[in-house]
Amino acid sequence: MTTLIQSSITPLVGKSLAELTEWVQAQGQPAYRGKQLHQWIYERGARSLADITVFPKQWRTAAEDTNIGRSTIHLRSVAPDGTVKFLLRLGDGHIIEAVGIPTENRLTVCVSSQVGCPMACDFCATGKGGFVRNLATHEIVDQVLTVQEDFQQRVSNIVFMGMGEPMLNIDNTIAAIRCLNQDIGIGQRGITVSTVGIPGHIRRFAEHQLQVTLAVSLHASNQTLREHLIPSAHRYSLEALLDECRDYVRLTGRRVTFEYILLAELNDCPEHALELGSHLRGFQSHVNLIPYNPIQEVDYKRPTEARVQKFVSILKKQHIAVSVRYSRGLEADAACGQLRASAIRS
Ligand code: SAH
Repeated sequence: MTTLIQSSITPLVGKSLAELTEWVQAQGQPAYRGKQLHQWIYERGARSLADITVFPKQWRTAAEDTNIGRSTIHLRSVAPDGTVKFLLRLGDGHIIEAVGIPTENRLTVCVSSQVGCPMACDFCATGKGGFVRNLATHEIVDQVLTVQEDFQQRVSNIVFMGMGEPMLNIDNTIAAIRCLNQDIGIGQRGITVSTVGIPGHIRRFAEHQLQVTLAVSLHASNQTLREHLIPSAHRYSLEALLDECRDYVRLTGRRVTFEYILLAELNDCPEHALELGSHLRGFQSHVNLIPYNPIQEVDYKRPTEARVQKFVSILKKQHIAVSVRYSRGLEADAACGQLRASAIRS
């Protein structure tokens, strides 16, 4: 049999069944090998063509340079609560973080969308390290495959809450969501995309009519406070951000989650809860309060449990749906906002 060897420029991870079939055919192989390839990549975790023992030996050897698009695990650390943080080395040597969070019958993966982050939010370790580049689609999907393999358990939920701002990498984020949903079989409703808000992007995202959850990092009840915590808020008024979120609800029929980090004595006072409630009354939304996870560079403090509960009760009195999310993985520096490239030691 003659085999036509083509080096694959776009890695295979991230490709759909139709694209993989097209690819094997371009390699001079029969179409049914596309389905085999799909299965070996997404279900059996093949890292190279050589792994795929159902393929003819001659082809496997000839095409062994094919880039499937998998990262390697640079470091793996386990927190006492079972959360596992992975530092993954990408094809070009950059390192990103992915976190596996097991709960009773679920496995959630917190994925990164960029190497570093350009948003520079003051309370977030990732932002302190600056921005390097966007992740390609396969680099996002690979994080999920890696965690799934490591836990030997199907991933049920994905949160785009790792390093980076997904709306600044919207095309690859959407392509990755398609793959996670259609190729790996993760329900769209189990996927959450978190954004600090980039003007015009929430509307753009809504136009794709996905059934994923949008989480918006609000963190403040007024514009002045928000600008203090989030530099990019200077170019995006709270009013405009909330308007865009209303459009998201209208276009998708899905409620929005508002994330609000609680920083002691800064944004956690009763008047902030009242102010936040006044913006959100009647808004199809849910507030997720996140008691601050400490990072080295700044001296914000996590509020006491009593202050957290006071904040909750004021929101509840205003009929705002609210829950408190204590991050998992604190001890492994794997919790929200603690993911940083500088933690990496080779
Ligand atoms: N850029 C996106 C996604 C990454 S951050 C965004 O901003 O939403 C994911 C969540 O972790 C966000 O709500 C973010 O604000 C929160 N976070 C960042 N630093 C944190 C910290 N130190 N403690 C608790 N949550 C933090």
